[in-house]
Amino acid sequence: MATLLPGGQATVRGSREPYGPRVVSGELHCEASMICQRCLQPVTVTLRGSIRWGLVFSDREMQSLDQELDPVLVEEGQLFLRQTIEDEMVLLLPIMPMHDSCDNEWIPDLEPGDVSEKKSPFAVLAALKNEQRS
Ligand SMILES: [Zn+2]
Repeated sequence: MATLLPGGQATVRGSREPYGPRVVSGELHCEASMICQRCLQPVTVTLRGSIRWGLVFSDREMQSLDQELDPVLVEEGQLFLRQTIEDEMVLLLPIMPMHDSCDNEWIPDLEPGDVSEKKSPFAVLAALKNEQRS
């Protein structure tokens, strides 16, 4: 479950190598609302990715496309840019979205005691001693 938030940015540019396929490359930047897998509350994740599409006009062209390019099929002479970019962004969604610092984080108590916790009783004792002295 993810909702792409408005305000996403995609910078794309087209180029064509001599005798090569039409190439669309660019950068994607978008935010999506997902569910934190730790606390099950909504979390906003930032998606960043780069694209390198090779435009193909038939299945046969897709087969022969350079392996470095992601084939994007242009149907009826149209590239559905928005749809294709959205598809690309969905691929960038994390499998396990989580808050960077999840408030409801459950941390197993593996640390050998919290230092600040241990210090505080002594600090209280020291304070008592000082009071008795005065
Ligand atoms: Zn969370």
